[in-house]
Amino acid sequence: MSAQTKGEKVFRGIAVSSGVCRGKILVLHRVRHLIARREIAEADIPAEVKRFEQVLVKTRTQITEIQDRVNANMSAAEGNIFDAHLLMLEDRVVIDEVLRLIRDQKANADFAFHTVTDRYIAAMAKEEDEFFRERVDVLRDLTGRVLDNLLDVKEALNLSRLTEPCILVSHDLSPSTTAQIDKQFVLGFATDIGGKTSHTAIMARSLDIPAVVGLQNIAEELENGDYALLDGYNGTVIVNPTDSTLFEYGQLEKNKATLDEKLREILWQPAVTLDGKPIHLSANIEDQHDVESVLAHGAEGVGLFRTEYLYISRDRPPDEQSQFQAYRDVAVAMKPHPVIIRTLDLGGDKFVSHLQLAQEMNPFLGWRAIRFCLAQPQLFRTQLRAILRASAEGNVKMMYPMISGLDELTQANALVEQCKAELRAENIPFHENLEVGVMIEIPSAALIADALAKRAKFFSIGSNDLIQYTLAADRTNEKVSHLYEPTHPAIIRLIKATVDASHAHGIWTGVCGEIGGDPVLVPLLLGLGVDELSAAPAVIPQVKYMIRRVKMSEAQALAEFALQGESPSEIYARCMEYAHEIAPSLFERKA
Ligand code: PEP
Ligand code: MG
Repeated sequence: MSAQTKGEKVFRGIAVSSGVCRGKILVLHRVRHLIARREIAEADIPAEVKRFEQVLVKTRTQITEIQDRVNANMSAAEGNIFDAHLLMLEDRVVIDEVLRLIRDQKANADFAFHTVTDRYIAAMAKEEDEFFRERVDVLRDLTGRVLDNLLDVKEALNLSRLTEPCILVSHDLSPSTTAQIDKQFVLGFATDIGGKTSHTAIMARSLDIPAVVGLQNIAEELENGDYALLDGYNGTVIVNPTDSTLFEYGQLEKNKATLDEKLREILWQPAVTLDGKPIHLSANIEDQHDVESVLAHGAEGVGLFRTEYLYISRDRPPDEQSQFQAYRDVAVAMKPHPVIIRTLDLGGDKFVSHLQLAQEMNPFLGWRAIRFCLAQPQLFRTQLRAILRASAEGNVKMMYPMISGLDELTQANALVEQCKAELRAENIPFHENLEVGVMIEIPSAALIADALAKRAKFFSIGSNDLIQYTLAADRTNEKVSHLYEPTHPAIIRLIKATVDASHAHGIWTGVCGEIGGDPVLVPLLLGLGVDELSAAPAVIPQVKYMIRRVKMSEAQALAEFALQGESPSEIYARCMEYAHEIAPSLFERKA
């Protein structure tokens, strides 16, 4: 029975991107194809071949349309995602094999196509060379589209055809689906699975769209056209909200308007505590186009430039020149503020749909980030040269992700020195003293922070990973999200050890994981001695609002309590209590 025929129903999940929206539900169902072998009569073979060829043309048109739309609404980087699809669609070897099956074995086109692509997918998935493995997801996606057309399945995931605003509901959202989101029509989204720091969640915050994940079975329960209210503050989706619920949310919207006004007033004010301690407040960006939003939200730099987007969306890695242009654009736009470019961090859950590095048993513990880069020095050096060149044009710094020990840092630094020598020989300008920092996101790095601090210019704590690795709780898995606790004493002690080691060696520590953008945790982080915070552009004003209401003596007392604490929930409750006390307006949006 549709939720339309019932009364109000509340689904509870994990709030990942704040804001409230209401509207009609659009469910993106995963399409399952039923493919049966049929024998085609000899006389019908030409028609079956024609049908297959027409479907290839139709699929090509659909993909090009999506690509054009994405290019117009997002950026060429996102649009390039589809280049790989288009190339594979024209692969003569695959097409000829399918045609052979249709002609020689009288197989129906859908069966023939499925048989051939399935074999390729299985073979590519086994390959050691990542060139093949990374194409597996593209081929899967493409196969799905071609089969949709051959079997005349209504396009379940065609976001480019939206004509009215809706709330998307889905089991999960892949990067290629997320890339199609047009904020004009997608008010917010809700998914069955996912965690607060999964790529879907980070994307939602970057797009500034309300989102709730981990709703378990909402995609099964809701139907297209159901009317719902999505509350990205409290992590609920309320279907068929009653008048009193709507009234309550009307009040919350008024509170939000008042808060927005307060936040606007401090937009250009410094991020300084009540007792005068300046905190460097920067923003995280996913690609070079986010820089406008960084400036509009009053951040004083980019604390984390995730460079993965430059890579995921293409058929082959971006060359030095195109990377240089992207880094330079950001550096110039942000000048004189710093821009911290993080070297490539592919792997884990990161954009797996488009550059699948490997089908690994434990991708988060596998061939990811600096491990992948050090194993591919050519690819890494291209990026290092581009970053070095951009350092001549603005206040650029660089940091390495996923450092687990000294060797990785030493090896990466040696490659940087090689690149510098090359650039010098080629008379290409770069900043000789480009500052290189280390992300602290693996417990081993936090525990040897003193050794790393001697060899780095700054630390940036990647709490998203630090929490998952310390507590052995997958950041993308809603089933273990109750264990994923930023205020676990182990996390607090690791942050404190990192900050202390950095200060003892005269360098600074920032936090660029999602906890840096959580106003509840900001006082605790300041009390632990963190010097810089970097968060999604949209949350910068709230973080600044909080910083400006903190007294360092009180923040230090809070940190002291947390360092002595044994219970994550007690520590969190104390943080919440303090945050409410000093900045009540920030929390009036909670129902
Ligand atoms: C982190 O791990 O906290 C981080 C900032 O990096 P990412 O989320 O890209 O893994
Ligand atoms: Mg990380």
